[in-house]
Amino acid sequence: MKFIVEAAMSKKILILFGLISSFCLGLAQDLSFERYFHNQALRLDLYQVGDAKEEFISLHRIFLEPVWPEPLTGLIQPFDYGRYLIKVYDVASNQLIFSRGFESVFGEYRTTSPALAGVKKAMERSIRIPCPKKPVTLVIEKRNKKNIPYPFFELTIDPQDYHIIRETPACGDAVIEKQRTGDPHEKVDLVFIAEGYLSSDQEKFKTDVDRFTDYLFKVEPYRSHKDDFNIYGIFRPSVERAMDEPRQRAYKKTILNASFNAFDLDRYMLIDDNHRLREIAAQVPYDTIVVLVNSSRYGGGGIGFDYCVTTTDHPSSLQVFIHEFGHSFAYLADEYYQSEVAYNEFYPPGVEPLEPNITALLDPDNIKWKELLSPGIAIPTEYGKEKLEAWQAERRTLRQKQMEEIEGAKKAGLPEAKIKAIQEKYQAKDKEIQAKIEAVRKEYSHLADKVAAFEGAGYASKGLYRPQMYCIMGSNQRGEFCKVCQWAITKMIDFYCGRLR
Ligand SMILES: [Zn+2]
Ligand SMILES: [Zn+2]
Repeated sequence: MKFIVEAAMSKKILILFGLISSFCLGLAQDLSFERYFHNQALRLDLYQVGDAKEEFISLHRIFLEPVWPEPLTGLIQPFDYGRYLIKVYDVASNQLIFSRGFESVFGEYRTTSPALAGVKKAMERSIRIPCPKKPVTLVIEKRNKKNIPYPFFELTIDPQDYHIIRETPACGDAVIEKQRTGDPHEKVDLVFIAEGYLSSDQEKFKTDVDRFTDYLFKVEPYRSHKDDFNIYGIFRPSVERAMDEPRQRAYKKTILNASFNAFDLDRYMLIDDNHRLREIAAQVPYDTIVVLVNSSRYGGGGIGFDYCVTTTDHPSSLQVFIHEFGHSFAYLADEYYQSEVAYNEFYPPGVEPLEPNITALLDPDNIKWKELLSPGIAIPTEYGKEKLEAWQAERRTLRQKQMEEIEGAKKAGLPEAKIKAIQEKYQAKDKEIQAKIEAVRKEYSHLADKVAAFEGAGYASKGLYRPQMYCIMGSNQRGEFCKVCQWAITKMIDFYCGRLR
């Protein structure tokens, strides 16, 4: 009898123990990097091929990289960012063990007019996952116009597969360790990559890395998080300086094939060789890439969770960098709406954008930056938009007229003094309009520090709203990020430092 009681008790204890351990295991299954992954990465060099209607992905090669530089926590991404999503499932258990969102140049291409007209293109994009210990199924999902994701690419990867290329990542490039503050798993690892520098320009690249790093840490919230960053530079010389400028018919032989006129927009610069970019970057542990193009022209570009690119020597290059890095690092949207872009319905009407800093305001009571709203502020927020736009339109007409009149005067061979008189006449009128614009701005200047919902954002004058009147992602009048962008950047820094779970 005694024996039976004891046996029953130990059974109870066993059951209890079993419950506790399976509970712990349940938690561990969600979180344990070590259970599913090696501290190494797999880089998949992909091609995205298609147009606005059709798209498919093809795999070129898989490389094993020596380090997984991203945090060991947050394996399932804590953001709903990215028009494409990577999902990795453990084959043995079917469990989702890793997810990330991403953007690509092709993702932008498919919203342009040629893509809508059915012109098919192939573009490179590399993606990276932690190296699994056992076979996994990698699924790539793409969001439809309503931002609902659906799978359209699937690949089973056996980490033992000898087709995975296990060569050294070293390419013989010069690597600069600009700042190292700790373990890559607990830091944002930023790498600057040289583009369009001659071998004699290596010292200039070093100076450029210093200059861009110094500037980054002058702007909040980066300034308060300097110690959260490891910073590297990688120098590979190009045969020629700068980049391609197709409209000027200037073509330069450079390592990454950076080119202006991306999507036929004169000031938009992107790079063509994404696979090579990733191969070069893999010589250091990196989370985020900045390409520095050795040129004094104005312009740049930024693709979410891929890279950003800027020229180095235009008076506005540092400002371009901080804006583009906002896109690539923190998934920020453009808050401006008056400049020319190549996209068609980049944000379809009636659909909430994924980015943290613009909204379609479909649910004003639950605006996504609700916690940061200025108390008692009216939403949407009147800020003299109609009046400002009317004056801005008048100024544009005036400038056009001025150009035409001066051209006419020059053609007619009028003397220099007459041309100068025409210029002065228009300058006086322009000044008047500028004063009127300033007056409207003054009328609403009490709103300059308020977080609210100002209509006009994401390339749309109507239907999309931004959190503050001024921000680096919009009209950069104050040289600082709005409070919502600062919040979103800080969150991304926290993520890469393993503080966000
Ligand atoms: Zn932008
Ligand atoms: Zn902002």
